[in-house]
Amino acid sequence: MSAIPQERRIVTAIPGPKSQELQARRLGAVAGGVGSVLPVFAARANGGIIEDVDGNRLIDFGSGIAVTSVGSSAEAVVRRASAQLAEFTHTCFMVTPYEGYVEVCEQLAELTPGDHAKKSALFNSGAEAVENAVKIARAYTKRQAVVVFDHGYHGRTNLTMALTAKNMPYKNGFGPFAPEIYRVPVAYGYRWPTGAENAGAEASAQAIDMIVKQIGAENVAAIIIEPVLGEGGFIEPAKGFLPAISKFATDNGIVFVADEIQSGFCRTGQWFACEDENVVPDLITTAKGIAGGLPLAAVTGRAEMMDAPHSGGLGGTYGGNPVACAAALGAIETMRELDLNAKAKRIEEVMKARLAAIQEKYDIVGDIRGRGAMIAIELVKSGTKDPNPEATGTLAKACHAEGLLVLTCGTYGNVLRFLPPLVIGEDLLNEGMDIIEAAFARV
Ligand SMILES: *Cc1c(COP(=O)(O)O)cnc(C)c1O
Repeated sequence: MSAIPQERRIVTAIPGPKSQELQARRLGAVAGGVGSVLPVFAARANGGIIEDVDGNRLIDFGSGIAVTSVGSSAEAVVRRASAQLAEFTHTCFMVTPYEGYVEVCEQLAELTPGDHAKKSALFNSGAEAVENAVKIARAYTKRQAVVVFDHGYHGRTNLTMALTAKNMPYKNGFGPFAPEIYRVPVAYGYRWPTGAENAGAEASAQAIDMIVKQIGAENVAAIIIEPVLGEGGFIEPAKGFLPAISKFATDNGIVFVADEIQSGFCRTGQWFACEDENVVPDLITTAKGIAGGLPLAAVTGRAEMMDAPHSGGLGGTYGGNPVACAAALGAIETMRELDLNAKAKRIEEVMKARLAAIQEKYDIVGDIRGRGAMIAIELVKSGTKDPNPEATGTLAKACHAEGLLVLTCGTYGNVLRFLPPLVIGEDLLNEGMDIIEAAFARV
C-alpha cells in the first residue's frame, strides 16, 4: 500500500498550477469527447485520499466511479498484480490458458447468489460484459428481444448505448442503435405518481403488461436490470419490483440478467445488491469493483446458459488478462479479510445520519437513498419535486474547491452521489460530510 497520509491537505487552488499545465497539454492532445469531472491530475492514491501533482490531498468520495472499493493501491492487489506482471503479462486465454482466469471464475461462482452450477466468462469492460450477456441469452433462448428499464445505464458501445436510457451525453448523435431493444418503466419510488408505497406493484404490472402486449414474452431473450440503478440516479427499485420481474422472467423462459457492474462487490453492503430481496439472477454482469482498478469484467450464470454459445463464440484478445485476474484475486481477498460488506454498512449509517441532518435544514434535499457506500441525494427546487441540476452542479463545485471529490448523476442531472472507497477511515468520511454540509450553507 502506498503510504499516503490519510489527511486532507490543500496547498494550492484546486486545480493547482501543475494540474493546470497538464490540463493545457491535455486539451491539445486528448479528444474533446473524453471529459473529466475535476481536472486535478493524480500523482498517488490510496485509502480515502487522492494526492495530486501539486501535493494537494483530496478526500475521495468517487472511487473512480465505484471501482477502487479496496483503495487505489491496496496491498494485496499491488502484491499479486506485481508478481504476475513479472511472470507474464499475456498469453491470451484463447491461445494458452492460465490458472488465474480459472480461479477468478471459481470465486465468482462462489460469491454470486444461488447454489446452482455456475460458469463465467471474463472480459475487459462492463459494456463488453453486458454485450456478452445478451449474446449468451440469445444463444440460449434462440430469441432476440431484450428488455431494459427507464433510467438504466449499461455502457457506451453500440449495443449498450441502445440499452442505456439517457440521451445526453451517452447517445446523442451516435445512432443508429441496435434493434430489438425495448424499454419499460422502473419503480422509481420518489417520482412514482401514486407514491413510493405503490411503485413496486404498479411499475412491475406496467412493465409486464408492456412486455406481454407490445413485444410478446415468447420473443424476449433477456431482461436486464441494475438492482440499484447507477448513472440513472442511484434509484433503488421499490420493494417487490425486482422479485416480480425476476419471477415473470423465470415463468416465461426469459433470461434474467442483473447488471451489478456498479452495485456489486460489497458496494451496497452485500456481495451483490440483488441479495437484498433474495433475487437469484440467471446471469450477472460484474466489472468496476472486481479488480481494485485493473480492467476486468465478467458474465457469471447458470452453467447451461453459459455453455449455450458454440466454442469460440465468446472471448476477446485481452479478456481475463492475467495481471487483471491477479488483481481481482487480491481485491476479493481484501474484501473478505477486511469484511468490506460490514464497512459499507457502517458508511451508510454515518452518511445517512449526516444527510438527514442536512435535509432537515435545506428543503432542496428531496430524497436520500441508496445502500451501503452507494448513497445519493436528489436535489429539487424549494417546495417542489422539480429537479434542481443547477444547485447540484454548484454544490459539487463547492466540494471540489475544498478538496472533496464528489460525483453527480441522474436522468435530470440533479443527484449528488457518494461512492467512497470502502476502506476509507471514519474521520475522513466525517470530514467529507462536514464539507458537504458547509457547501449547503454557502449555496
Ligand atoms: C459503468 C457501468 C457499465 C459500463 O461499464 P464500462 O466498464 O464503463 O464499460 C455498465 N453497467 C453499469 C451498471 C455500470 O455502472
